[in-house]
Amino acid sequence: MTEVLNQLFIGGAWVDAADGATMPVDDPATGEILGHVADAGAKDARLAEEAAVQAQAEWARTAPRARSEILRRAHEIILERTDELARLMTSEMGKPLAEARGEVAYAAEFFRWFSEEAVRIDGGCGTLPDGRNRMFLSRRPVGPCLLITPWNFPLAMGTRKIGPAVAAGCTMILKPAPQTPLSSLALAGILKEAGLPDGVLNVVTTSRAGEVCEPLLRGGRIRKLSFTGSTAVGRLLLAQCADTVVRTSMELGGNAPFIVFDDADLDVAVDGAMVAKMRNMGEACTAANRFFVHRSVAEEFGRRLAERMGALEVGPGTRDGVDVGPLIDTAGRAKVEELVADAVERGAEVLVGGRTPEGPGCFYPPTVLAAVSPESRLMDTEIFGPVAAILTFDDEDEVLRRANDTPWGLVGYVFTEGLDRGLRVSEGLEVGMVGLNTGLVSNPAAPFGGVKQSGLGREGGRVGIDEFLEYQYIAVPVR
Ligand code: NAP
Repeated sequence: MTEVLNQLFIGGAWVDAADGATMPVDDPATGEILGHVADAGAKDARLAEEAAVQAQAEWARTAPRARSEILRRAHEIILERTDELARLMTSEMGKPLAEARGEVAYAAEFFRWFSEEAVRIDGGCGTLPDGRNRMFLSRRPVGPCLLITPWNFPLAMGTRKIGPAVAAGCTMILKPAPQTPLSSLALAGILKEAGLPDGVLNVVTTSRAGEVCEPLLRGGRIRKLSFTGSTAVGRLLLAQCADTVVRTSMELGGNAPFIVFDDADLDVAVDGAMVAKMRNMGEACTAANRFFVHRSVAEEFGRRLAERMGALEVGPGTRDGVDVGPLIDTAGRAKVEELVADAVERGAEVLVGGRTPEGPGCFYPPTVLAAVSPESRLMDTEIFGPVAAILTFDDEDEVLRRANDTPWGLVGYVFTEGLDRGLRVSEGLEVGMVGLNTGLVSNPAAPFGGVKQSGLGREGGRVGIDEFLEYQYIAVPVR
């Protein structure tokens, strides 16, 4: 991969948008335009759909071992190109190079994991309770899928969906976020090189998401939507899927509580907070949004966290030694500024950060707010930036009630040295995932996903492939 790919990928060919439209891709560290990519419209969506539908039957018949080998090769190519892919991702998204390299490894691992799952798709047979009927059970690909991804993990959100879809034998249309199309196009190039047949994966980059996706979801030929993004957009897409009863997987927003008890090891808790808050500059669905710290340790925890946050180097992700890159765009930064201003107006104390720096780029400093009012807007809004908001609590029942008092339920973090309490509180949290004395839960081998308005279904783990498979049961009476 030497050239940067910038066209649509349809039926195995690189093509311009039918109406010739293009859209710019910006570098959030400088505001400069990196280049232009094709801007697909409804006609391109129809062509991609046709390619996916035409390729489906033969792809479903392909030997699982062959599908597995393609994923395995793609995993290896991604790792060989770690540096190139990391630089591409940093240029369009902003995360520091070290984090981008970490994401490349994380993204590649989904392909390795699902290359192993492709050959373990189970079925079954048995005798039914009447003793006469036999049951043959097989699992089949759900059919052509639409995959919609966000900008915050441009490579990994793609491989987390493409990996299981390839393993299951589904064809796909991928619509990446318009801020970060280059990583997805590079991924398509790698899969082609790894031997993925034409039409199995189609990539439509677009600034006209509704025009491209709605006809696909309402048209009756796409059988599955796998979406990662905000809860608001997820809700809209669920409604569009209802008419033709499209199967859905929804990885939506979060509002993660981070709970520190008085018996926690504060070194471990602060390390955990740095990861849970600062991974991806806080632009992660798993980012700790509300820090509930026991009153007796809140001051000490706030002081130590502010010291660590204040020592982070902010700057362009390509510069050596930078820990915190720019936020994705000016709108993302403006939202963070408004949330901090609102919290301060309601009495929060700024322990570190809180002021937007002068100059180009969408930078915002690591910020710690103490004594945050529960009425603050950031308590029920995803901050999506490097801001830790600390509140205090007095007892276990109270903190559990407050942590669960939200429509979201993606992830929660619990810090305590008591195993009993750790498990009790983890089980009491209304979330799909818990980090118990750790700030990192994401792992391709574990089922990722949320409850309540954080989503439907799971990605990764043994169950990740299930989202792309249907059961078929054949009844056979024995006379
Ligand atoms: P977003 O605004 O919901 O966009 C996500 C994707 O949906 C983008 O590709 C976007 O394209 C597309 N989209 C928006 N409106 C659409 C429509 N009407 N039809 C079809 N597609 C449409 O979210 P974001 O700002 O990119 O990402 C941040 C959100 O993602 C946060 O809420 C975060 O928590 C969530 N997230 C969740 C997970 C998880 O696994 N649970 C992981 C990562 C991120 P356009 O931008 O062109 O509209």
